Amino acid sequence: MNNMFDLSGKVAIITGCNTGLGQGMALALAQAGADIVGVNRSVPSETAALIEKTGRRFHSVIADMSKIETADLAIKEAISTFGKVDILVNNAGIIRRNDAIDFTEQDWDDVMDLNVKMVFFMSQAFAKQVISQKSTGNIINIASMLSYQGGIRVPSYTSSKSGVLGLTKALANEWAQKGINVNAIAPGYMETNNTEALRADENRSSEILGRIPAGRWGTPDDMAGPIVFLASDASRYVHGYTIAVDGGWLAR
Ligand code: NAD
Repeated sequence: MNNMFDLSGKVAIITGCNTGLGQGMALALAQAGADIVGVNRSVPSETAALIEKTGRRFHSVIADMSKIETADLAIKEAISTFGKVDILVNNAGIIRRNDAIDFTEQDWDDVMDLNVKMVFFMSQAFAKQVISQKSTGNIINIASMLSYQGGIRVPSYTSSKSGVLGLTKALANEWAQKGINVNAIAPGYMETNNTEALRADENRSSEILGRIPAGRWGTPDDMAGPIVFLASDASRYVHGYTIAVDGGWLAR
């Protein structure tokens, strides 16, 4: 029987893979057989070494994912290196914390530009390329628990991640017929830089942990199975869906 999860011969672009969940997902895609194009602001040496150890190739694109021109640049570099693209993981994201009453325009725009505007324009550039290749493609956006909940002191982050959930459905509706699967993963509370401040706050940290049925914070490894599923033929009839990888948080 064919292995439906096999990504051999596929090319995956992943944004923000020098650390955290992006690094975990890039490694998982490479272990499943894909060559990786990573888009980061600096060379992700650790990730590159981990991927090359799997026997797959890694190409680094150095660019700022909050700049619109990065979308075309990333696709162009992927094509000139590997000749095609098959998978896009829109992972790069930031968070800003402040009381809503004091929240600045800068903290609003920085988060919205990277976390949702660029998810759209990166997806658009990828879809144009897949259509011109006359092939199929898989887009996986990274959402959040705050795609479902309001959160505290993170109004632009909640707005951006709620936007990612809606955008995932909107793009799936237009592109499913073009052979492009658009889905998302909503990670729960994971041990990365993004949650450093939460984990350092004893009260918030024990409140959060007490609500997670699995009884622990998630890790980048926990993203491996879901990302390979959504990037592969195993999910070929899954469109517009956001999978929570949250240790059961949303079930409470
Ligand atoms: P992280 O801070 O370790 O990773 C964020 C990544 O985005 C890094 O690789 C960073 O370099 C990159 N990045 C940020 N700004 C960029 C820019 N302008 N250009 C290019 N790259 C840029 O945190 P993480 O937890 O691994 O976050 C990855 C994704 O997961 C984000 O979208 C985040 O919102 C989402 N997420 C994280 C959690 C969690 O609990 N850690 C939960 C839900 C969703």
